[in-house]
Amino acid sequence: MKSLLLWDIDGTLINADGAGCRAVLQAMKDCFGVEASFDGFELAGRTDRQIMEWLMVSHNLENSKEIFQQFSARYIECLNREILLANIHTYKGVESILQTLHHRDDIFQGLLTGNLSGAARVKLECLDLCRYFSFGAYGEDGADRNTLGPIALQRASRQHGYDFETEPDRVYVIGDTDRDIVCGKAIGAVTIAVATGFHSKERLATANPTLLLDDFTEPAEFFAILNDPLPYPA
Ligand SMILES: [Mg+2]
Repeated sequence: MKSLLLWDIDGTLINADGAGCRAVLQAMKDCFGVEASFDGFELAGRTDRQIMEWLMVSHNLENSKEIFQQFSARYIECLNREILLANIHTYKGVESILQTLHHRDDIFQGLLTGNLSGAARVKLECLDLCRYFSFGAYGEDGADRNTLGPIALQRASRQHGYDFETEPDRVYVIGDTDRDIVCGKAIGAVTIAVATGFHSKERLATANPTLLLDDFTEPAEFFAILNDPLPYPA
């Protein structure tokens, strides 16, 4: 039997030290001449597309496919620069887990992230984490995070020739916000929340994840649920 792990990036695998926020605000300035801010908008768990479209709408900017592509391209350029200045790091325990799972032939690992694919690449490449993920669903695939789960399942099934769409109980969605948990539940997956990122353990608990962890430094429970999710309530 195979299992599929779908990982969020920011707050879950890595702390990018706000580089993404600074890069997207710089891109707003470069593309539209607008000094924007995120005041009054909660970013945690949102997709890049959702965040960028919110910025454009809130400044009455015209949105079209071409304009969004230009904005995205500039964002990635800015992120490449910001990432060099940021104190970006992988959370403690994460790389050891990724490495262990990478060597198991019953586990496939992919990304289920709000990041644009280009942004995911920039952030993960500088920490040498890209090699653990063979596919992903990304911010450009949809503004609403809940639309990304089915896309990730389709890509996983195509990539690995194994039909996870009919076995959602073998799929694990791992993230640091209640939006990750809702997104995982929307595809019937086992949900694992980790309180290293944007939401507190108390807030994550209200979304009722299958497993709730402080961090990945003591991974015994994490590996236990991968081996057998059945003892855990849905
Ligand atoms: Mg996150």
